[in-house]
Amino acid sequence: MSTVYRVLARKYRPITLSELVGQEVLAQALTQGIEANRLPHAFLLHGIRGVGKTTTARILARSLNCIGVDGKGGITPNPCGVCSSCVSINEDRHLDVIEMDAASRTGVDDIREVIESARYKAVVGRFKVFIIDEVHMLSKSAFNALLKTLEEPPPHVKFIFATTEIHKIPETILSRCMRFDLKRIEPEHLVKHLKLIAEKEGFQVEQEALVNLARAADGSLRDGLSLLDQAIALTSDGKEALVKATVVQAMLGLVDRERLFTLVRALFEGNIEKTITVTQSLLKDGGDATMVLQDILDLVYWLTCLKTVPQLQNEASWPLADRQQGMEIAGPLNVPLLMRAWQLLLKGYEEVCQAPSSSQALEMVLIRLCYMADAPLLHQLLDGSNKISIPAHSSQQPIASVSTISVPSISITLPATFEEMVKLVETAKEPILFSHLLHDVYLISYKPGEITLRLSAKAPSNFVQNLKQTLSKLTRQDWLIQVSQEQGQNTLTEQKQEEQKQTEQQVLDHPVVAAIKDTFPGTKVTFID
Ligand SMILES: [Zn+2]
Repeated sequence: MSTVYRVLARKYRPITLSELVGQEVLAQALTQGIEANRLPHAFLLHGIRGVGKTTTARILARSLNCIGVDGKGGITPNPCGVCSSCVSINEDRHLDVIEMDAASRTGVDDIREVIESARYKAVVGRFKVFIIDEVHMLSKSAFNALLKTLEEPPPHVKFIFATTEIHKIPETILSRCMRFDLKRIEPEHLVKHLKLIAEKEGFQVEQEALVNLARAADGSLRDGLSLLDQAIALTSDGKEALVKATVVQAMLGLVDRERLFTLVRALFEGNIEKTITVTQSLLKDGGDATMVLQDILDLVYWLTCLKTVPQLQNEASWPLADRQQGMEIAGPLNVPLLMRAWQLLLKGYEEVCQAPSSSQALEMVLIRLCYMADAPLLHQLLDGSNKISIPAHSSQQPIASVSTISVPSISITLPATFEEMVKLVETAKEPILFSHLLHDVYLISYKPGEITLRLSAKAPSNFVQNLKQTLSKLTRQDWLIQVSQEQGQNTLTEQKQEEQKQTEQQVLDHPVVAAIKDTFPGTKVTFID
């Protein structure tokens, strides 16, 4: 499956700087540098995953070594793509362009090899180019070894470092590199680009589907293309060439975010009519009552975070839409109100799970919340003036002596079991990662913050790293993830299939079913999901 994912990303990988998506500033700076022949010995490309760091590094490697169509060209911002140098870099077999992933080769010996090789002149090219991806993963001693070469770099050597975590790179290294920041790709850019690529593949994509794909990609072009790949795979049954919004929504497991924000806004405004209308429309479109409630809980949690840690609104690792819309809603609210809403929803969750009609229970819970939002807070009733007319949405802070409601701490409890951890990843809207967790992970041991596992061959090479990043983002704590060759438990999917089989067998063994089969020989039992 992982090979399918990368098809589009690889097929449409940009060849020149001007083709980089959403990185105009970077492209311009590099183009000017190359034209003026003012290039550093070491480049540092920084940005979130999937924005084009290694693509840029490869373009640079071609720019530095291209000899042009006639074999007489020099350094150029527009590598020709056809000369022997360009072609061999494209095919990853250029003798002087050495790419290494610091995530898997972190040691000082790996770097010594690089340094040793840097002493010798380029074999066929103009420059020897070392591309070191995820450079922040190098060990301290590896950085130290590298530093000596960076202090006195041989003239024929260029280093191109790429990283997602610049703060982990020592100052001594940073000061010897020219730093380039790759921007998180704006949703509008992503939407346009995904549309274009889909059209080249012969598919139309509904606008809402594009917006949802772009939102899920959250600034990463590679993720966007992977998701588009998946959406196309789900669509292409040979008849249709239209990727529908409903397909994408189901694929991403989205209760449509926009409507969710509208719903929460209505709740806190105490607008019952709107609350019910939006809730019903979500349920009508296939949203499950418990899932809708869970999404509302998530959002209330997010609003509380924003209210207590306002810097989060500038935290680029959260989707921009969540930050902007979240701030708009959280603005007039206060923490005690959010706390009460949270408690009410949590209690309501049990009710929804137990009620004979979960959708009715959901509506009742939300109506209760509307009333609460509209009622004055306890501390406001008790304040010295004895006036009850203070509006509920006043941002006035609670009076300490009266209010005993404590402000929530933002430390996040780590998931206690592997299953809970997987659920947490699901809430993070990481569909690719989530799917691999279900299908490709054989758990060996789990404790909060520490996982040992075996991976199936279908898991992508960056799986462990992505999981680590996602978990540390979600829990604000570093996770230790070890890969082992031990057998481990079955994957979650296999376990589920096994359970299903057992349930089916129990049904077949049931005396009533057996009696039916006796009375009506040849009866076939069909299981409906
Ligand atoms: Zn060339």
